[in-house]
Amino acid sequence: MSTAKLTIDLDALVTNWRALDAKTNCETAAVVKANGYGLDAGRAATALANAGARNFFVAVAEEGVALRRALGAGPGISVFSGHMEGDAKLLKDFQLTPMINSLDQLLRQIETLPGLPFGVQLDTGMNRLGMEPGEWAAVRDIALGQGPVLLMSHLACADEPGHGMNAHQLKTFRDLTDGIEIPRSLSATGGLLLGRDYHFDLCRPGIGLYGGLPFGDAMPVVQLDLPVIQTRALAAGETVGYGNMWTAKRPSQIATVAAGYADGLIRAMGSGGIQLYAGDTACPVVGRVSMDLITVDVTDLAEIPAHLSLLTPEQTVDKVADAAGTIGYEILTSLGHRYARTYKG
Ligand SMILES: *Cc1c(COP(=O)(O)O)cnc(C)c1O
Repeated sequence: MSTAKLTIDLDALVTNWRALDAKTNCETAAVVKANGYGLDAGRAATALANAGARNFFVAVAEEGVALRRALGAGPGISVFSGHMEGDAKLLKDFQLTPMINSLDQLLRQIETLPGLPFGVQLDTGMNRLGMEPGEWAAVRDIALGQGPVLLMSHLACADEPGHGMNAHQLKTFRDLTDGIEIPRSLSATGGLLLGRDYHFDLCRPGIGLYGGLPFGDAMPVVQLDLPVIQTRALAAGETVGYGNMWTAKRPSQIATVAAGYADGLIRAMGSGGIQLYAGDTACPVVGRVSMDLITVDVTDLAEIPAHLSLLTPEQTVDKVADAAGTIGYEILTSLGHRYARTYKG
């Protein structure tokens, strides 16, 4: 079988959720947008719900529908994009809680779903989603009169603890919400790690659950093993792959493994010093990453294994991301659909 194998450790996911939860005195929800950062929102959320998570966040209503089908009735599912035109039936039928982002959305909510739960998202400086302070001042009394279940905002620079934006957004959030007797939420993974001032009533980590930075103590959740399709001997001076990008400096053994940029192993990775692992032995990727194949210098291996590993406890999504000039979030959410996926736990 030449399908690469992606192993997703749901026990590690649960361990990460518990470890983050232990850093707070508040409720810890879980963000499972983009199909659980590419790892399967239904499976991830079910594992976390069994461990005690009660609230989940998705990006859009359709993701919430899929999640409700997987989770069944009970756990809360909130939608960051709020209440978009045409969403009312989905929000109602699948018990989804929109995080209202604007006056327009608020009016739509009150008109089409009176009495149903919603939250309010406030913009404290990121300028991406949520009501601006001026808008909030104008509609605050109307919104509060409808009994929102959560007031939330989002930090722009929480992965940089020393960044002045964190304190600035914290102050703005307090200015907008202090004295209101409604649960509040400001922090994702990064904000949770900034400490108690940032926790309020509920934290909403995503990436840290899946083993990514800024949660440096996270357990690795993904392992990716690529089958070796073929091995060949090269004389010094021979080249490998598209564009002749790599030349053998010595007689070499080159292994070709089954995965490429169509599987989310982005082409930029090829020039970044990524290794594939045979047990503990690192074998450098040589030549360009192509659509379905990667070539690896295995000259120093005594024996060629059936698989070489790209994501391991040592070579995390963040290390691969660094080599490719991106972030762990993008590597995770790009992991392709061709992998044979195995869920542990
Ligand atoms: C994605 C997202 C989160 C989770 O962020 P992580 O950095 O993955 O922990 C939380 N809140 C909002 C509004 C988000 O968009």
